[in-house]
Amino acid sequence: MSDYLKSTPNSDGFFGDYGGAMLPPPLEPHFAEIRAAYAELSKSPAFLEELRHIRKHFQGRPTPISHLKNLSAMAGGAQIYAKREDLNHTGAHKLNHCMAEGLLAKHMGKTKLIAETGAGQHGVALATAAAYFGLECEIHMGEVDIAKEAPNVTRMKLLGATVVPVGEGAKTLKEAVDSAFGSYIAQAGHALFGIGSVVGPHPFPMMVRDFQSIVGIESREQFAEMVGGLPDIVAACVGGGSNAMGLFAGFIDDDVALVGVEPLGTSSKLGDHAATMTYGVDGAIHGFQTKVLLDEGGEPAPVNTIASGLDYPGVGPEHAHLQKIGRVKYETADDAETLHAFYEISRKEGIIPALESAHAIAWAMREAKNHPGKNILINLSGRGDKDIDFVTETHGFGGS
Ligand SMILES: *Cc1c(COP(=O)(O)O)cnc(C)c1O
Repeated sequence: MSDYLKSTPNSDGFFGDYGGAMLPPPLEPHFAEIRAAYAELSKSPAFLEELRHIRKHFQGRPTPISHLKNLSAMAGGAQIYAKREDLNHTGAHKLNHCMAEGLLAKHMGKTKLIAETGAGQHGVALATAAAYFGLECEIHMGEVDIAKEAPNVTRMKLLGATVVPVGEGAKTLKEAVDSAFGSYIAQAGHALFGIGSVVGPHPFPMMVRDFQSIVGIESREQFAEMVGGLPDIVAACVGGGSNAMGLFAGFIDDDVALVGVEPLGTSSKLGDHAATMTYGVDGAIHGFQTKVLLDEGGEPAPVNTIASGLDYPGVGPEHAHLQKIGRVKYETADDAETLHAFYEISRKEGIIPALESAHAIAWAMREAKNHPGKNILINLSGRGDKDIDFVTETHGFGGS
């Protein structure tokens, strides 16, 4: 492991000023148990070997890197490469940490995984892990999201999960988090909360980063073999920030520029976007210190983006730290250029990307001309099957 990864976060879960664990008292012993279990297992050759076996024989790793030749020619300037997490089992990077969380639960003697889901992607990945390990699975989901994301609800049920509808408030992700957390507090003796990104109280931001670092470790080797040397720029979309941290982890000690791409939605006005790193302020959300988008009353602000997986008014604490120390730059892509990128990579490369991932592609297509002779590697975090109905019903088949 690299020097940076070994030394960050500190033992209290702080990445500089960000992170930590602000827990309700009944959860403190349970988080102490998780921290102790992870400290031991992350050094256990048997645990790591089991994880390697799962990565290869169940998930289908390593996923390849593809040279996006036609897109690069169109953009003019840098060559663009994509790490193909869309080819990971279940179609996105999320299974990388869900399988590891399932394995951790199994080793801790837990019998159940609990989580919330927004668009249903995390719910499907966690339900997959639960099925594999023979664990029960309880997924909390807002009633609005259940109606919107019917195929993912069906998937979760087929995988044997119980989907708990949440009818409070706006009936979306925030209420689902509250509901799932409440249920977890009551069951923490035999259940593990399967957090869906590099967010939440310590040790989750660190654990999820470590579990996702397989993306960066593979990429570093594959890129050297395929192209020679290291990429000049590595970029990924940022919602909570797990696919970005996974890819960045492979290059964090190298002389490689790292860029996080946030969703600018329809404009830079508060409420129109979900660009927390770009427009947020220091604050606390869901039990940790980070940057947050707040409304005038100091509450988490409403967020908006075409990609529901990026729809979060907070961000992983490590991103706030890496921005503050100047190691990672955060930029944005809006809905319109993201849709354009979605159509172009589909038509020119034969890859239909998730709308989340299309933000990173949009940024690379815009930025390529400023870096002639250089190589840009982006994380294609997931496939777009989940988005095709929405995109074609609202925007057709992309005229150009
Ligand atoms: C959930 C999701 C994201 C956003 O989550 P991060 O934790 O920021 O990576 C990005 N891409 C896809 C395909 C997703 O499903």
